[in-house]
Amino acid sequence: MALKTMLGAGLVAGLLNFGVSSVSAQVAEVESKPYSSDLLERVRQAATTISGELAATISFTKLAESHRTYAGIIEDGSDDLFVAARTAFQIAYPEGTVMLDSGMDKAVHRYYGFGREEPYWQEANDEVQAALRRAQLIIITHEHGDHVAGVIRSDYREELAAKTMLTKGQVETLTLAPQLPEIQLTSEQASDYNVVDYELLLPVAPGIVLIKSPGHTPGHQMVYVQLAQGKEFLFIGDIAWSLDNITQLKLRPAETIARIKENPQALMHQMTWIKHVMDEDGLVVVPSHDQRLLARYVEEGILGASISP
Ligand SMILES: [Zn+2]
Repeated sequence: MALKTMLGAGLVAGLLNFGVSSVSAQVAEVESKPYSSDLLERVRQAATTISGELAATISFTKLAESHRTYAGIIEDGSDDLFVAARTAFQIAYPEGTVMLDSGMDKAVHRYYGFGREEPYWQEANDEVQAALRRAQLIIITHEHGDHVAGVIRSDYREELAAKTMLTKGQVETLTLAPQLPEIQLTSEQASDYNVVDYELLLPVAPGIVLIKSPGHTPGHQMVYVQLAQGKEFLFIGDIAWSLDNITQLKLRPAETIARIKENPQALMHQMTWIKHVMDEDGLVVVPSHDQRLLARYVEEGILGASISP
């Protein structure tokens, strides 16, 4: 039996009425609703609504690195090196896989180097591309190049688009105000993807629920995953670049917030909830880029160190 996903089950048809022609000029405006105290309970409930075996393991591939200092990623941070891992995650079910984020090609990676040459592993990104082609469903945490370029600037773009779920918020940014010109979508290209809009929660596969979290970008979402052995993961994308932002409840430096045009109130609200479910409910919190934390999760056997292409 094949893995049942929101796309595979045909559940998505009614949700795809979004026309790119309807986009407003309000891309920068981030709508954000407060999380209620029963949010985790609701997420867990939603996670049961698509039936089927739960995923067994989660692995990731690191395809590039960006070298920063803690001062660049957290308020009052030190000048110590912060290695930002550029990653894509694979959630493995007995019958198939779901990919979370899509890697990027070297040209897009260069954009993040600010003129410096930084580590990039072509073979690793080739592996990500192969894994994307094999996946049943591709989910994107948010519309920045290091997460979405792999399903836009790919030799297999149309093939991947047919099983990639983008949100209305993500598509608005990608068509009207992309982070860099290389990842801009035309309205026609955008219609190749499965574009969804949802209020707060969207179950997409057994044990997987998307949680709307605009703030870092308008189309940002977290991804909750429950594994068969019971462990619960919360992929927080780029709400925070390091776990320290969460444990200390500190945002990025003010100039970075301004450069990215983030909504700091929304981010702090989300970080407070993330810290709560981490401390009180034992969720494994996974920021996309925290190399040191990811290495620790691999050591502890919580995450696999490389995806199967
Ligand atoms: Zn990122």
